[in-house]
Amino acid sequence: MNRIEIDFQSCEGCRRCVKACFVNVLSWDREACRPVVAHVEDCVHCNLCELSCPSGSIEVMPDFASLDWTAF
Ligand code: SF4
Ligand code: SF4
Repeated sequence: MNRIEIDFQSCEGCRRCVKACFVNVLSWDREACRPVVAHVEDCVHCNLCELSCPSGSIEVMPDFASLDWTAF
């Protein structure tokens, strides 16, 4: 399974990463005003969340070990 890390020290709370994720891996914690990794199992490693983040606060680390390389 991929890993998604968010640096809450630098996160600006802009919500762009949540809007960018088209498979709803990320949700929004209204109270804390920050993103939450809600469904990491659905992450397709498109990197749109990373690319949309203005402060470089979110990082997606693919689980290469679980890929079936014979399929490529
Ligand atoms: S890499 Fe893509 S699928 Fe995964 S959390 Fe980011 S936007 Fe969503
Ligand atoms: S895009 Fe970056 S700064 Fe904005 S809420 Fe997401 S992690 Fe925080």
